[in-house]
Amino acid sequence: MLCPCCSKRAFKDCCEPLLDGAKNAQSPETLMRSRYCAYTLKAIDYIFDTYANSVKTGASDNEQLTKASITEWANSVTFVRLEIVSGSDDTNGGINKEPNLGFVEFAAYYLDKNVLHCLHEKSRFVREHPNGLNNEPKQWHYIDGTIIEEPTLSLGRNDLCPCQSGKKFKKCHG
Ligand SMILES: [Zn+2]
Ligand SMILES: [Zn+2]
Repeated sequence: MLCPCCSKRAFKDCCEPLLDGAKNAQSPETLMRSRYCAYTLKAIDYIFDTYANSVKTGASDNEQLTKASITEWANSVTFVRLEIVSGSDDTNGGINKEPNLGFVEFAAYYLDKNVLHCLHEKSRFVREHPNGLNNEPKQWHYIDGTIIEEPTLSLGRNDLCPCQSGKKFKKCHG
């Protein structure tokens, strides 16, 4: 099986070890890809756990995060494609002055009934101790994102499927 994060790599060599907890994400982009995978596979615990501590504890400005709210959103839409616009993997080579802060700009395409949405977001990531436990090595976590744009497109049954399978929408994700 190809990895749902659109890396064109096998799932077992890409995001699966992260979702299984066998490996930690080595960069914000890797974490972003694995979180996208988790949404497609409804791995709610993984999505929750990889949020920054400030979000999980409600200390940030964000709405209180719950597994129920993540589940509701993950179940209401179907993610079909991910494009990384720019990952902070490129900037961690000494240019990024904040080694514990990272950014990833991405476009995630998802279907809500017959409407295709493109969520174009620049996300912020922090490298911190999981759950604030200092005896655990620091890991990347998602803080929040700025939505750059979110255009939508209504799909017809005979349109090509936005997942790029080459099939008609009605025969694929329709
Ligand atoms: Zn992957
Ligand atoms: Zn499709």
